[in-house]
Amino acid sequence: MIFDILTLFPSMFQGAFSDSIIKRAVDNGIISIDFHNIRDHSDDTKHKTVDDYPYGGDAGMLMKVTPLVKCIGDAKERLAKHNPVVVYMSPQGELLNHKVVESFINVKSLIILCGRYKGIDQRVVDMYVDREISIGDYVLSGGEIPAMVLVDSITRLLPGALGNRDSAEADSFYNGLLSHPEYTRPEDINGMKVPEILLSGHHANIKKWQHEQAVKITKERRPDLWDKYCIAHPETVQKKRKK
Ligand code: SAM
Repeated sequence: MIFDILTLFPSMFQGAFSDSIIKRAVDNGIISIDFHNIRDHSDDTKHKTVDDYPYGGDAGMLMKVTPLVKCIGDAKERLAKHNPVVVYMSPQGELLNHKVVESFINVKSLIILCGRYKGIDQRVVDMYVDREISIGDYVLSGGEIPAMVLVDSITRLLPGALGNRDSAEADSFYNGLLSHPEYTRPEDINGMKVPEILLSGHHANIKKWQHEQAVKITKERRPDLWDKYCIAHPETVQKKRKK
């Protein structure tokens, strides 16, 4: 998948994308990531201004329209044969969750627009943006961290991005439940022991225990997810009630 990230702060991504799973995915050709500095498209050659006053007299500034339009236009042209989808990271967008992440995995290229200041002119959204995505009901200073979240969460689901050792299938949300608790060595920490079942070597019983734990923790912590799981898996839930 191709990610084209449009931002005023490309250097913010250096740390986040230069290690671990994202780096491996880039090195293995599973994804490519390019950054485009919106400031390079400023029509103000002297000061490279990228902000402007909002109509209506509100406090604060908005991103200037011309650099945005030019930067998005360039990206769309560059990726024209890869059917790019333009995403604007925005608190007003669709709330990101596992299902929303999954909805991106067959997209060939994503142009991700990171807002700054008070955001961007609504007409730019209306003309160019295919999807608006929010990473939560709070406001960050810019779209860069949300863009990192989006790229990371999609990449984890792309074939070959994770080795078997860090497979996404046992992760929270993958099958609609939170993950079961995990343990590693040592077997005993100050008297707190690893549950015996995990040392039994009985694969089927271990799977059963892990599923029961996932159900327990989901019911306790995320009744909203549990309700959805019951609707999606009526047989499993009914079987449990009959016992
Ligand atoms: N005035 C905007 C509002 O109230 O909705 C907030 C603007 S925010 C300070 C600047 C930029 O950060 C936004 O344009 C957006 O790109 C990004 N941003 C902030 N919070 C976000 C969130 N929860 N999800 C996605 N992007 C976010």
